[in-house]
Amino acid sequence: SLDTIHGAADTFAKAVKAMSGGKFEISVHAAGEIMPAFGVVDGVQQGSVEMAHTAPYYFFGKDETFALGCAIPFGLNSRQMTAWMYEGNGLKLMREFYAKYNIVNFPGGNTGAQMGGWFRKEIKSLNDLKGLKFRIGGFGGKVLERLGVVPQNIPGGDIYPALEKGVIDAAEWVGPYDDEKLGFYKIAPYYYYPGWWEACSMYSMYVNIKEWEKLPKQYQEALTSACAECNIDMMAEYDYKNPIALQSLIKNGVKLQSYSTEIMKAASNAAFEMYEEEAAKNPSFKKIYEPWKKFRNDQMLWNKVAEQTLMSFMLTNPVK
Ligand code: CA
Repeated sequence: SLDTIHGAADTFAKAVKAMSGGKFEISVHAAGEIMPAFGVVDGVQQGSVEMAHTAPYYFFGKDETFALGCAIPFGLNSRQMTAWMYEGNGLKLMREFYAKYNIVNFPGGNTGAQMGGWFRKEIKSLNDLKGLKFRIGGFGGKVLERLGVVPQNIPGGDIYPALEKGVIDAAEWVGPYDDEKLGFYKIAPYYYYPGWWEACSMYSMYVNIKEWEKLPKQYQEALTSACAECNIDMMAEYDYKNPIALQSLIKNGVKLQSYSTEIMKAASNAAFEMYEEEAAKNPSFKKIYEPWKKFRNDQMLWNKVAEQTLMSFMLTNPVK
């Protein structure tokens, strides 16, 4: 139902078809049509579908390593993630991990930095998080749990009624464009930022390895290029649509609030404590997490010098 995320899969399939002169057709099905959303790793692994498009962090229950190929709290932003996957060792390392699931993976879209969720009441201190029933997808819930939140895993379409009936106290989804369409602002006016659990969220295309190997070289090239195209397209779409939607939400009376430094610091500490614990007991996680962490630190140094300096100046010196 999301023209942004689901739309990227359509873009991908159209590009593959065009590049193969109409011969290589990939049919796109929404979650639930031929397979439940959370069944796609098993589906591709067993070959009941040849391909899937998904947010890998949904599968952290199988192995936390999945989340490293998507989003972990206080992780890389979209530019950094793109660099890590295509030019750093990210894609190579994730492919080694996915091989045991019979999957060849490709980056398949990015939302950029997400928002921090919709709340009925203000969240001023760590105390306000205690016992809060919060719908949150992916790995972020595990960190919030350490701060006393009760994370709830609810699919997109069911969030609004749950929030309306008070089954949950708060919910995060994606960002202004997708969130506006679901109408959360009507029942929970406090819109927090940033979504520190998703500095970016990178989606993946999964291909069954045997099906991949059967493809003619030209089709493999078409599929690879089409994944790259949809990866860029989704990011561009979010960057184009989010500012417009944010202005419209503000007009509708949404109250924008930033998370306090106290909450952000506690969350960051809890996140990296959790990663170190995971690395100590999970060799697959450790193998990717350690070079990822070094890459992240190198990126921070570079970003602080050029990008951040210029961005800070421009944000505090708006052009009228
Ligand atoms: Ca989210």
